Parts: sequence; C-alpha cells; structure tokens
Amino acid sequence: MKQEIERVLRKMNDLSTIEEIRQVVGGDINEAFYVRTKEEQYFIKGNSGVPSHFFKAESSGLQLIRDSHTISVPRVYYYDEPQQGEIGMLAMEWIDGQEKTHTQEKLGRNLALMHQQISDRYGFSDPTFVGELDQPNDWRDSWLDYYQDFRLNHQFNIALEKGRLPEKRKIRLEKLILNLEQWIPSSPAPSLLHGDLWGGNFIAGLEGEPFLVDPSIVYGDSAFELAFTELFGGFQSSFYEAYEEISPLPKTYEEMKPLYQLFYLLVHLNIFGESYGPPVDRILKRYVG
Ligand code: ADP
Repeated sequence: MKQEIERVLRKMNDLSTIEEIRQVVGGDINEAFYVRTKEEQYFIKGNSGVPSHFFKAESSGLQLIRDSHTISVPRVYYYDEPQQGEIGMLAMEWIDGQEKTHTQEKLGRNLALMHQQISDRYGFSDPTFVGELDQPNDWRDSWLDYYQDFRLNHQFNIALEKGRLPEKRKIRLEKLILNLEQWIPSSPAPSLLHGDLWGGNFIAGLEGEPFLVDPSIVYGDSAFELAFTELFGGFQSSFYEAYEEISPLPKTYEEMKPLYQLFYLLVHLNIFGESYGPPVDRILKRYVG
C-alpha cells in the first residue's frame, strides 16, 4: 500500500516528506489510512477488488451533499478509476475530532435540511453501491416503483442467485413485493438521501461538527433513511428530536419502518449470509403472514 499512497500523493502534487502512515480501523470494505506529510494530513483508502466506478461514485456522492450546503462532508482530493485487478485509491480531507454533546443534535438538524433538497423524480442518474453490492439506478415517477424494482426486487434476485431464499422466504418475499403499495407511498417528497446512514457513516470533526461519509445517493422517501438509522442503533434521541423539529415523520412511519429496514437486511443477508435470515423472516411474517 505504501507505494500506492506515494503514487496518490504525487497525483495530488504533495511532494513533501511523508511523516506518518497509520492504518485506520472501522471500514469493512477498504483498507484505510491516516497519512501525514510535511504539508498536509489525509484520509486515504484503497481496494484492489472494486469496479472502476466505485470511488467515483463515492466522490460524486460526497460532492452532491457538499453542494446542498446543509451538512459537512470531507473534501475529496483524488480518486482512481482502476482497471480490473488494479488497486483503486481515494484520498480526502482528514477529519479529526470527537463527538460532543451537540454533535447528534446538529446531525439531526442538518440531515433534515439535506432532506429538504428535493428532485422532481425518484432514484438516481448513476449506479452506486450499497456496501460492496452494486446498486443500479434510474429515474422513476413513482417512489413505490423505484423501491419495488431497484431495491427489493434487485436484492431478491441477488438472494436467489446466492441461494439465500429457502422456499417459504421466497414465496413470502414475492408476495410482499407484489403487495408493497399497501404500505409504501408512491409520491413522498423525493429527498436527497445519504442512502447508507448507519452509525459508522457519520464522524465528528473539529468542535464536534458532524460529517457524513460513504454515501450511496438516492432521491427518495426520507423515512427510508430514518428507518436505517434505527436498524443498528448509534443515534441518540437528540438526533431524532432535532430532525423532527424540522421535518416531522409521517404518521405511517412506524408501519413503513420494517419494510424500509428490510432492504438493508436483505443486503446484509446477501453479503454476510444466513445470520440475517431470521430478522428478514420476522418482517415477512408480520406483513404477509
Ligand atoms: P469503508 O469504505 O471501508 O467502509 P470508511 O470510508 O467508512 O471505510 O472509513 C473507515 C473509517 O474511517 C470510518 O468508520 C471512519 O471512522 C473513518 N473515516 C472515514 N472517513 C474519514 C475521514 N475523512 N477522516 C477521518 N476518518 C475517516
């Protein structure tokens, strides 16, 4: 990796002495490093098995959030578009700080403001990634159609291919996808969403300022984003209170929540395997018996 880091520093025109390279733990996909040169500090990560548009998608997602002027994101300095088998690298601003008492409150408020940035359709122009899985995208006039086809059906097909769907689960999931309009709205506001907002994807900078990292951009129902924050925890009540002061959640939120969490559980089922089977089955049982 050291050679790759040196290559990236040259690309960024930082030819000063490297004073420290330290591995950063926490990411589950890439190898990540803190790099300090005489001139600057960086967060640099690399991966040898990703498609060529992997880091481009991350970089343009961060840029889109930055352009919304609602919530902080690290500045991206450089990314590769690697050929198959090559190592791809991404270099960005090093964010250094600690969560303070107001961090989550500000995160909730800023996220609500970000969700007020709306498109006129649902989905996204480019493919993205959820974890390491491809997330194909396109624009749809109905959120229900987008969520059905590009999210649940797409994970259904991956699960089928990977043998993650015992007969009962398969039948229930098919039934749920077919009947989704009973619970999922067609035309909520098409909000700008981070798209992969679990507790590991926000970090604190100077003065506890919240920053979003690792987005998987989509325009869609803000309840989809909030539902995922609740799946694995890590968000305090001050986050939700601040969010709801700006954008109260719809009355139907609690009923939709498991169906939005289902997407992320299917992603986990497809990446990590059967340990995510039982929570998937519980949701299916609740909605389609
Ligand atoms: P992966 O893409 O492998 O999931 P992440 O981008 O999430 O990796 O980064 C791994 C960890 O590094 C994160 O959990 C976070 O704590 C930290 N991190 C991410 N971006 C930065 C940054 N710009 N500055 C400092 N630390 C960061």
